[in-house]
Amino acid sequence: MNSTKYIFVTGGVTSSLGKGIISASLAKLLQARGLSVTIQKLDPYINIDPGTLNPYEHGECFVTNDGAETDLDLGHYERFLNVSTSQANNITTGRIYQSVIQKERKGAYLGKTVQVIPHITDEIKDSIKILGETGDYDVVITEIGGTVGDIESLPFVEAVRQLKWELKTNCLFIHLTLVPYLSAAKELKTKPTQNSVKKMLELGVQPDILVCRTEHHLDQEIKDKIARFCNVAENAVIESRDASSIYEVPILMQKEGLDEVVIEKLQMTGLPSPDLTKWKSFLHALQNPQKSIKIALVGKYVELQDSYKSIVEALNHGGVANNTKVGIDWVHSASLTDANVANKLKEVSGVLVAPGFGERGIEGKITAIKYARENNIPFLGICLGMQCAVIEFARNVLSLNHAHTVEIDQKTPHPVINMMEEQKSISNLGGTMRLGEYTCEIESTSKVFESYQSNSIQERHRHRYEFNNEYLSSFVENGMIPTGKNPQTGLIEIVEIPKHKWFVGVQFHPEYKSSVEQPHPLFTAFVKACLNG
Ligand code: GLN
Repeated sequence: MNSTKYIFVTGGVTSSLGKGIISASLAKLLQARGLSVTIQKLDPYINIDPGTLNPYEHGECFVTNDGAETDLDLGHYERFLNVSTSQANNITTGRIYQSVIQKERKGAYLGKTVQVIPHITDEIKDSIKILGETGDYDVVITEIGGTVGDIESLPFVEAVRQLKWELKTNCLFIHLTLVPYLSAAKELKTKPTQNSVKKMLELGVQPDILVCRTEHHLDQEIKDKIARFCNVAENAVIESRDASSIYEVPILMQKEGLDEVVIEKLQMTGLPSPDLTKWKSFLHALQNPQKSIKIALVGKYVELQDSYKSIVEALNHGGVANNTKVGIDWVHSASLTDANVANKLKEVSGVLVAPGFGERGIEGKITAIKYARENNIPFLGICLGMQCAVIEFARNVLSLNHAHTVEIDQKTPHPVINMMEEQKSISNLGGTMRLGEYTCEIESTSKVFESYQSNSIQERHRHRYEFNNEYLSSFVENGMIPTGKNPQTGLIEIVEIPKHKWFVGVQFHPEYKSSVEQPHPLFTAFVKACLNG
């Protein structure tokens, strides 16, 4: 392919239309035709990245190999494409302004007045083109967060409007809208879509393709009407019905011909038809499970399930690898006590204790772990979940009263989880944790070796605190063993209790690396252990 093609995805009418899933589905269809595709998310908020955002605000913070703290949509992109993303795949208004202001301080604008147009828009355009300029991609899909018409997203829409003049026929615009059904009138209504496209036209952008979210079928008459009013070709009005699973969306988009019309408009000739064999067999297994189990997900943000998006998906993938439907029992850690834990966990085959920050719910997590440990229930602890497993073992097996992590109790007599040395001088919260991919060496005689089948793995991190090696020998003597270590620093990355059926705590986040085509070995092994319960 000669030059990189760019696809810009905008959203109108309302938020939460699923731009991320549509973008990922289109990317999958193009990838399945042999193209190399990446997806980028532009977020209009002023935070530099979502790393400092409370999950209640924005759902999970996804972490890339190179340590970017990003929007959860990047998780969808990776799970769909099985290709890593990076710092360059998520740009925020905050990051754009930070970069422009730094350049201004260095005198890079040669005395000019620094303005939204052209300086901010140029910075946005450069951030979009940077992915194409790597030469690695045939297609770059750029999703613009927010809803068209929002004040915050105006510079992004303006930047892509300008880019059209540079990229000419090498780009196209997809606009997602909503076609609501009014039950009183028994009618689907196209006016919000018409108005949303008018808004785009006011901003100087004519969408090439409309993807219409709807709860009902859009018949040809409605599609023709939308095409006529919105100035798009009839085959460029794509119906997007609610799907039973996000993994069905690429198949639905293929049936609607989304990839066909994209290829036609971008003049990408001679491509093979999509090979979705692996995807379809995953979907078939997902939709036809032979067994089912329930796993407790213990966390403090359970009211907003997007806070644990990657964990939920990794459990789904691990379930498919075992032909099993994994049902999740959402257990609020702040509600767990010694008195109610047996009752709250009575129906589950396994316990997963989630990552997190801060004090709320921590004693509930420790209570859940004690119950899983004492009752030989398969347990997976991730990041704070692993740290809580260490605290629980210290308190209840090693009898180290008031053992804790210094994150919560700086005066604990037994800081079994301590602050990492290099963290002690850091005062800024944003982007300063131990982030991204690190090597971990694995003991051959361990449960984790059985799952990874490797002595050396790479996993992603996002934490400030760590296992305190001063206590290591007491843990080992009493049956909690470090089975994974960072070879350079000696940091403990994995603990296990070999006497237990399956008890694994990991300091890293395996959930970020699970994908449809490669379910994560640890989640697969955890689900298997739960099935054997
Ligand atoms: N709060 C803990 C730390 O910073 C754990 C972080 C996490 O669970 N991601 O070490």
